[in-house]
Amino acid sequence: MPDFALRSLKQVAAGGSAVSAFRSMVSGPEAWARTHPAPRTPAPPPGGTLVDESMASVGAPMPKGKKRGKVTLASSANRPGVGVQPIVTNFLSRLGQPITIGTGTNHSQMTVNGRVSDHWDGHAADIPASGDELTRMGRRALIAAGMPPAQAAKIKGGLFNLQWNGRRVQVIFNTTEGGNHYNHLHVGIR
Ligand SMILES: [Zn+2]
Repeated sequence: MPDFALRSLKQVAAGGSAVSAFRSMVSGPEAWARTHPAPRTPAPPPGGTLVDESMASVGAPMPKGKKRGKVTLASSANRPGVGVQPIVTNFLSRLGQPITIGTGTNHSQMTVNGRVSDHWDGHAADIPASGDELTRMGRRALIAAGMPPAQAAKIKGGLFNLQWNGRRVQVIFNTTEGGNHYNHLHVGIR
């Protein structure tokens, strides 16, 4: 905003009327504010949706003809103040189906094997599912991480480490490796 007080002092110094200078000092900022509205802050993303266009830039672009699925978060999925990393939600959107993350960072710090879990700092997500639904979702995760679809179609479950877009993607389903994974799909990325 211009310095209206300084401008008024200059008017008086130049031989102008002190009264009109004072009036313009008072009315100036109001008129200026009317023509210079404060910039509007952008609206927050709609509730629950974790993947938007800005996040889509994290990771690889979608292959032609493939659409992202919506990724949402269960209310108790995260520890207060520690969210799931955008790379994780972005990767999950590549499965092309609606995904609800049941557990993000609200997870024990250590894995059953005594290592710090990918969950702890937001690099993993668990998606509740079982049976055929879990198998289908697990295969989609393997394909999203670069496994050829014909190879993924033969897989019934297990623990997999794949390289995707310069990152290590871990996919676990239908196995007791690393804990019981018959009731959820685990996807970890770093
Ligand atoms: Zn997990």
